[in-house]
Amino acid sequence: MDTPSNIIDGKAFAARVRADVAKSVVTLKADHGVTPGLAVVVVGEDPASQVYVRNKVKQTAEVGMHSIHHELPAETAQEALVTKVRELNADPAIHGILVQLPLPAHIDEAAVIETIAPEKDVDGFHVVNTGLLATGGRGMVPCTPLGCIMMLKDCLGDLSGKKAIVVGRSNIVGKPMAQLLLDANCTVTIAHSRTRDLAGEVRAADIVVAAVGRPEMVKGDWIKNGAAVIDVGINRIDAPERGEGKTRLVGDVEFETAAKHAAAITPVPGGVGPMTIACLLKNTVTAACRQNNIDPDSV
Ligand code: NDP
Repeated sequence: MDTPSNIIDGKAFAARVRADVAKSVVTLKADHGVTPGLAVVVVGEDPASQVYVRNKVKQTAEVGMHSIHHELPAETAQEALVTKVRELNADPAIHGILVQLPLPAHIDEAAVIETIAPEKDVDGFHVVNTGLLATGGRGMVPCTPLGCIMMLKDCLGDLSGKKAIVVGRSNIVGKPMAQLLLDANCTVTIAHSRTRDLAGEVRAADIVVAAVGRPEMVKGDWIKNGAAVIDVGINRIDAPERGEGKTRLVGDVEFETAAKHAAAITPVPGGVGPMTIACLLKNTVTAACRQNNIDPDSV
């Protein structure tokens, strides 16, 4: 069965981004002798992180980049992790460093992130990069919001003047997403757990980005006809209809009903998720270019 035309195919979009990255890697190697390198550091054995990290390492190799992967035991001391990050900061073959979050409770995440050289911070979480994003500067943009804004621009073109709402104000998704929409000249509302009349706020929006982590909390009939909906949420819920003990993934938006109103909407799974790793690879190419004084638009 054909996919309805208002459903944004995140998997296909991410495949296009990876193909572009692979082309850039070929050009960087051939014309500049630079092989972009990404280092991923994982501490402990969180199963979700392990799956995610395996995917990152595989996709990094597939686009022709240099990829290294450090797995440290859960009891690793903060100082040892900081030392590892400093080694990677000093390694000229590494252009991007990603420390997989969450870290074990005894480690101060913020302190570790602040150790990453801002120009190698391909997750865009360092305060230098969040500051640059907030002030319209040229930093590294967090991968998930970057993927969302790319999909929005691809399906809507110019976003100027549109009313956008971001539901959720986390540092990794909600806040940078709102900055990117503002940068694209949207009129932006940021909603959170204390927002009064969330339904009314969503009903007024031409663009809805949901990053809450609560299954289907944005109701389909809140979506204005013709709006674009980007659902960042990933929630696993029981699915007894699939058999005993079975589960399935849903987003933060009530998809079936929302899809009847939206001009464009991302599904979960298969929407924003695949774009996050693709944007990590894109950020690594950008970082490699900047560290070698090459214009990223030229490769
Ligand atoms: P956080 O838990 O850090 O933030 C959730 C936000 O939702 C908070 O700002 C919170 O408000 C707000 N919120 C909670 N309840 C309500 C409510 N009833 N009404 C309005 N707002 C509410 O989550 P993240 O931003 O890290 O992640 C959000 C979702 O996105 C999760 O499902 C996560 O798994 C997913 N995700 C997906 C990624 C991908 O690659 N597709 C990447 C990253 C995240 P307050 O600040 O007031 O508490």
